[in-house]
Amino acid sequence: MEVNPILVVGGGPAGLEAARGAAELGYRALLVEKAATLGGEPIHADYATITPDLEDAGTAMGRMIDAIAGDPLVEIRKETTVVAAAGEPPELTVTLEGPGGREEVTVGAVVVATGFQHFDPGRETQLYGYYEFDDVITLVDAERMLKAGHFIRPSTGEPPKRVCFIQCVGSRDRQIGNVWCSKVCCGIACKEAIEIRQHLPDCQVFIFYIDMRMYGFWEDQLYWRAQEQQKVNFIRGIVTEITRRGDTLVIKGEDTTMGRPVEVAMDVVVLSVGMEPSKGTREMAEIFGLPLESHGFLETVGGPLDTVTTPKPGFFAAGAATGPADLEDSVSMAGAAAMKAAGFLRRQALAAAKSA
Ligand SMILES: Cc1cc2nc3c(=O)[nH]c(=O)nc-3n(C[C@H](O)[C@H](O)[C@H](O)COP(=O)(O)OP(=O)(O)OC[C@H]3O[C@@H](n4cnc5c(N)ncnc54)[C@H](O)[C@@H]3O)c2cc1C
Ligand code: SF4
Repeated sequence: MEVNPILVVGGGPAGLEAARGAAELGYRALLVEKAATLGGEPIHADYATITPDLEDAGTAMGRMIDAIAGDPLVEIRKETTVVAAAGEPPELTVTLEGPGGREEVTVGAVVVATGFQHFDPGRETQLYGYYEFDDVITLVDAERMLKAGHFIRPSTGEPPKRVCFIQCVGSRDRQIGNVWCSKVCCGIACKEAIEIRQHLPDCQVFIFYIDMRMYGFWEDQLYWRAQEQQKVNFIRGIVTEITRRGDTLVIKGEDTTMGRPVEVAMDVVVLSVGMEPSKGTREMAEIFGLPLESHGFLETVGGPLDTVTTPKPGFFAAGAATGPADLEDSVSMAGAAAMKAAGFLRRQALAAAKSA
């Protein structure tokens, strides 16, 4: 009896690794990606480089795509998503909608790797003026400029003299309901600060933080490198308001180490926006009937020892669809999800053989 393929939804870092893992284990993978290109947010949001070595993001994702391209066990459908599902694994019928119209396919197990979306800073009462001031940008906007090789003040097109990052925008915020730490933004801010200093050695760079969360090796690979080698200034403080005076931005807040108010002028302000569950993640939860955990990401049931198994047999999840995750987390989970999905299919086949 032919074993049905493992459906992987989402062609970002997690989905690419899940499809590769399934094929490595000898199972067929059907990878569906709603965008026209694979690679997930690092490609769609034009990341310049990735942590910790500042490798070109396109090169890194290209390597992941090459690892499955041409593999006879991996079928890739771009500009395609799942619009309906019926039955249950290992005989789950999914309706795919792609450029050629709708098609029904039977799959044996599912890995949902539909990722995250960036917090929209306009939602936070315009406190930081993202939609008001051209020179207030996000980490993602900064990546785009770094990728293009010219980090400028958007309002003038000139190189900035003073840039600051504001951490925890849309994360660790009980008022807006995003109580989680997005895990990557401290590291990404340090990475971008290093790159800005490399591009523009005359530009002063500041990072306003509540506390810097640099777990594992990022502590010396990014934080100390930013502070000691690139002379980035870290200010422990809370920014309460951004206004404009003349053609500069004025940052008002409190330096919590010194216990005094601060008011500093900046040319560019970068908001370190956090991660939220993507629209695609919420849609797949609905279609597959997968519960969400209390923060709105996909629920997994194994606690710290199994981060990929959902409450529904045959359904697994990986990457930022399950919560804030960096690339390491995402691909590690994807490998585990591929292994669990293959295990599920193997157990189903053994049970079917026994009862035949
Ligand atoms: C500005 C910024 C910079 C970052 N830089 C780094 C870094 O340097 N190092 C690091 O470790 N981490 C970094 N991260 C985090 C990193 O982006 C994530 O860890 C990673 O992208 C998660 O991968 P993923 O595959 O789970 O999700 P995603 O990258 O979000 O990919 C999900 C994929 O699923 C697709 N999809 C969504 N819904 C559907 C659907 N319904 N049907 C089909 N396809 C769908 C999407 O189009 C997308 O291709 C950064 C994050 C930000 C915000
Ligand atoms: S990683 Fe840093 S900036 Fe991001 S939410 Fe956590 S503490 Fe805030």
